[in-house]
Amino acid sequence: MSPHDDGFFREPTPGCASAEQRAASREGDPVAVTLDKLPHVAVQWFDSAGRVLFWNQASEQLYGYSRSEALGRTLGELIYTPEQQAFFHDLMHRALAGDEVLGPELQTVRHRDGSRRSILASLFVLRAGQGESVFVCVDVDVTREQDAHESLSLERQLLRTVMDENPNIIILKDWDGHFLMANRGLAELYNTTIENLIGKTDGDFNANAEQVRFFLENARSIMRDGKTRVVMEESTHAETGETRYYRSIKKPLRGADGEPCVLITASDVTDLHLARQQIRQLTYHDALTQLPNRVLLADRMQQAIALARRDGSMLAVAYIDLDGFKPINDVYGHAVGDALLVQMAERLRNTAREGDTVARIGGDEFVLLLSHLSDKPSCERILLRVLAALAEPVVRNGAELQVSASIGVTLYPDDESDADALIRHADQAMYQAKLQGRNRYHFFDPAHDRKMQAARELCERVVTGLQLGEFELFYQPRIDLIQRRVQGAEALIRWRHPGKGLLLPGAFLPQIEGSACMIAMGRWVLEQAVQQLAQWRRAGLDIAVSINIAAPHLLASDFVTHLAQVLAAFPDVPPAMLELEILESTALEDMEAVRAILAECRALGVRFALDDFGTGYSSLIYLRRLPVDTLKIDRSFVRDMLDDAEDHTIVQAVIGLGNAFGRHVVAEGVETERHGQALMGLGCHQLQGFGIARPMPAPELHGWIESYVPSFRPVDA
Ligand code: C2E
Ligand code: CA
Ligand code: CA
Repeated sequence: MSPHDDGFFREPTPGCASAEQRAASREGDPVAVTLDKLPHVAVQWFDSAGRVLFWNQASEQLYGYSRSEALGRTLGELIYTPEQQAFFHDLMHRALAGDEVLGPELQTVRHRDGSRRSILASLFVLRAGQGESVFVCVDVDVTREQDAHESLSLERQLLRTVMDENPNIIILKDWDGHFLMANRGLAELYNTTIENLIGKTDGDFNANAEQVRFFLENARSIMRDGKTRVVMEESTHAETGETRYYRSIKKPLRGADGEPCVLITASDVTDLHLARQQIRQLTYHDALTQLPNRVLLADRMQQAIALARRDGSMLAVAYIDLDGFKPINDVYGHAVGDALLVQMAERLRNTAREGDTVARIGGDEFVLLLSHLSDKPSCERILLRVLAALAEPVVRNGAELQVSASIGVTLYPDDESDADALIRHADQAMYQAKLQGRNRYHFFDPAHDRKMQAARELCERVVTGLQLGEFELFYQPRIDLIQRRVQGAEALIRWRHPGKGLLLPGAFLPQIEGSACMIAMGRWVLEQAVQQLAQWRRAGLDIAVSINIAAPHLLASDFVTHLAQVLAAFPDVPPAMLELEILESTALEDMEAVRAILAECRALGVRFALDDFGTGYSSLIYLRRLPVDTLKIDRSFVRDMLDDAEDHTIVQAVIGLGNAFGRHVVAEGVETERHGQALMGLGCHQLQGFGIARPMPAPELHGWIESYVPSFRPVDA
């Protein structure tokens, strides 16, 4: 198609004769020629019926219709939709009414090939001389600009959609915290519209000043560093007031103007946060009272110890155990017991100071951690308050319940131990508080504990030593000066210590006194001595053996059974050849129990001596009631009897007592002949002491006895 070939005007179409004629008259019109050549500006003329009179080349190019195709047709038949055509008619009427140019109006029209064109169309009227008006339409093609514009707004829409559909909060903020952009997430949090957010700050919607300050400072520091950061933060919901937790990615950007801004994408992690908190709560707290549990306590203790070490302050660890809780649980049931514990926990929490820790670490056991104490009295004041608070009665189901507390306390750094040991020590002290009568506190004594610890270690060593055969019994003979013969021997323990040589009892017995290993040792001594008795008897040596029995050994439940077993194992040994020496103080300790045991043992045939007699102040009545055969005058009285009148009197009195009650009297510690003679003079003829013989290994005793001539020898011989 070559529209230019047919000149300006096409063949007239039927019914359009006048328009054709008018157009024909403009052939060669320089204006028309100019318009035709005008590049990019599409110019059309219309008659009052809207039919095309003139269609320049630019129109041909813009719409794809040649001039000949366009002439005589309406725009509705060419490029307009029916609505646009109707609108065009309206415009023509308006143009007719005035002289001004209408438009430019942005229109989207159809190209011949069906594609779209965006035009800016203007319309005005040219009034011809005969009163016939010509309508001129000038179109400028803005398709490209419009497309660009539309694609831009598409990008905007896309951005808007992506932002709003995003489940996260997205905000673009400037240096002063003004929202440059925000999405629906933020609008929902602040209970407003997106439009209302723009230009505002957090402070306009969030009443929590601290949060607002944090948001601003944090954003600024990110803008300053220029580094993207992930921040955990919380924000208060504007309407509900609930706290939401966010994981925010904050990315510093530069705006078009070069001003710094920050893009924040905050994902709501509240559920996760709460779940985590709940797990924490479950892991670190006691479910019944919500108090910290053992795990959290351990953690707090580490912190408290570090703190006390750093600032040199005092820390108290108090172990609290309720007195009389179990019966309440048993009588009223667990529900009541639980309620009571909750109440006690509450009271503890209220009594503790800010910063103290109250933990529940067992059924009715709590630990109170008191930091920053100035001294022991200030600790005691708090403990008294705790005791008073816990002892307040509780009313449950009409019943008035009351418990009290036993508290064990240890003070750091007096007790410079680790967390575990501090709790253990407080626990030990609590046990002491119970023993002392409950409803009280008792302080742990580190020095005493060190002694106990040393004793425990020594005890273990003693037990090993017994197994390894490091112990041995020495024997010290006892003579009867009237019968002029060796009457018996006292077994005295020795420890052939691999590192320390031969140890006397004084080097280890005092430390382990009262410990369980004393019993193990005592059993060994008993077995060893009876075995030795049997051996000597087989060798034709007929002497009695005395052994020393410690109080805990004598009072052990199986003492008599064991003694019977040992005697039964050596039937050749007459039980009367075995004498058990017990300290006078032991006998007095638990008179009735000792008496019963002595009676049982005597029924087996063994004999008893009261050792160190005179030191325990036993009354005559006790002495009379105790089934003992012998009194051993304590060494200290014998030693000083020659110089000290009082000691002399005591020795004399003991001998008199023995005679009066029909007991034998043995003097021990006889070092010289003068002692021996003085004792003889007072009526005591059974003697033991270095003046006669020192304790000796068992194999030496037989030979010593055979060569014995009753006489005294110098002590250091
Ligand atoms: P004890 O039962 O009073 O035994 C007498 C102690 O006096 C012995 O000391 C003995 O060596 C010492 N002794 C004897 N004559 C003299 C003397 O003339 N001068 C001086 N200075 N000392 C003399 P040892 O063997 O060191 O025993 C000390 C204590 O250890 C005993 O005192 C006894 O209480 C205890 N002991 C010894 N062996 C055993 C044992 O097998 N079991 C128990 N439970 N205790 C024992
Ligand atoms: Ca003794
Ligand atoms: Ca003694």
